[in-house]
Amino acid sequence: MEDCIFCKIINQEIPSYKVYEDEKVYAFLDITQVTKGHTLVIPKKHVSDIFEYDEQLATDLFTRIPKIARALETAFPEMEGLNIVNNNKEVAYQTVFHSHVHLIPRYSKKDDFSLHFGKHMEDYTQEQMQAIANQIQKQVKSNE
Ligand code: AMP
Ligand code: ZN
Repeated sequence: MEDCIFCKIINQEIPSYKVYEDEKVYAFLDITQVTKGHTLVIPKKHVSDIFEYDEQLATDLFTRIPKIARALETAFPEMEGLNIVNNNKEVAYQTVFHSHVHLIPRYSKKDDFSLHFGKHMEDYTQEQMQAIANQIQKQVKSNE
């Protein structure tokens, strides 16, 4: 896609620090290096976000991730964990609209990375929780 920075990286029109490539997927260092080895994994096919994946593209992308995760683990034995993050749309902090998955190695809880999971269980009754689950379940089935 024209004017997409990640398509340009795939096509070698702009440089990147490549860590992996095959016919479907490209992986390279995120320029910000939130932690050492912070890597982006992207499909070569341009899709904006997770909502545009079909099953084949999801298979192509997500089957490569454990392999790259293990490569990070063996490359950096001091690594103690890994966050896998995929932002979709602006409200969810997406800034580059070619879908990508962040692999963020963790070396300590004091790394310059954080995720806040607010706790709101008290806002919902059991019935409301069940209604929410039903609402989603119905859509998963009808989208099949
Ligand atoms: P997100 O905020 O999830 O859309 O993440 C986009 C990521 O792309 C950010 O972490 C940026 O640091 C990264 N990024 C943007 N441009 C480049 C580039 N030319 N090379 C490597 N990483 C980039
Ligand atoms: Zn693109």
